[in-house]
Amino acid sequence: MWAVFVLALMGGLLGLGLAYAADLLKVEADPRIEGVRERLPGYDCGACSYPGCSAFAEAIVEGDVKDLKLCKPGNNTHYDAIVDYLNDNRNPDGSKITVKK
Ligand code: SF4
Repeated sequence: MWAVFVLALMGGLLGLGLAYAADLLKVEADPRIEGVRERLPGYDCGACSYPGCSAFAEAIVEGDVKDLKLCKPGNNTHYDAIVDYLNDNRNPDGSKITVKK
């Protein structure tokens, strides 16, 4: 009977510890990455040389991509939407992410 109680108590404590650690160590993603990803074609084809649209969107937001035409399936509708979105959603210091279209 004591063994069951001790195991249940240990399980509960370890569960609480894991939940606390997950909350403490979570990494907040920049919400603009999702905003840019939503404006990409969404084919996940890799033609941009990134493993998918999410990785390309992250690279754009981090300023590693200077030319949106790297996304070959994209067109001016996509590029204009991304540039407009980035103009409306600047960096925390007020600077703008500049990309060519
Ligand atoms: S080329 Fe465009 S559609 Fe293809 S993975 Fe890259 S961002 Fe997505």
